[in-house]
Amino acid sequence: MKTRTTMPGSEMEALRGSIEKWRKIRDCEDADRGKDNCPLCIFYCNDCYNCIVGTATGLQYCQGTPYIDWCNHLVKDHGFSIMDVYQSVPGCETCARLAQAEIDFLASLGKTQNEV
Ligand SMILES: [Zn+2]
Repeated sequence: MKTRTTMPGSEMEALRGSIEKWRKIRDCEDADRGKDNCPLCIFYCNDCYNCIVGTATGLQYCQGTPYIDWCNHLVKDHGFSIMDVYQSVPGCETCARLAQAEIDFLASLGKTQNEV
């Protein structure tokens, strides 16, 4: 894992926003609408290689993060198509666990730099 040494306040705000997005998904208060409701995607204009997530993983589209487990779970266990993934949250225990894993992952990115 590569990490940068500084994080501007605006970047930290975007990270906090993405953590909040996943809290809402975990609690079934909002759906994952992919980049459309991801403050990090919006902040970085979908440039994964500049994003703190892509910088940490060296990959695009949140590959190498718990987000992929989340997508796989919805497709395999809930019968969602890739487009459905962005529509709703089934809200089973595994959904909540995987959403929490994404929260923990995002929080760990913040902790290496500043406190989230
Ligand atoms: Zn589920």
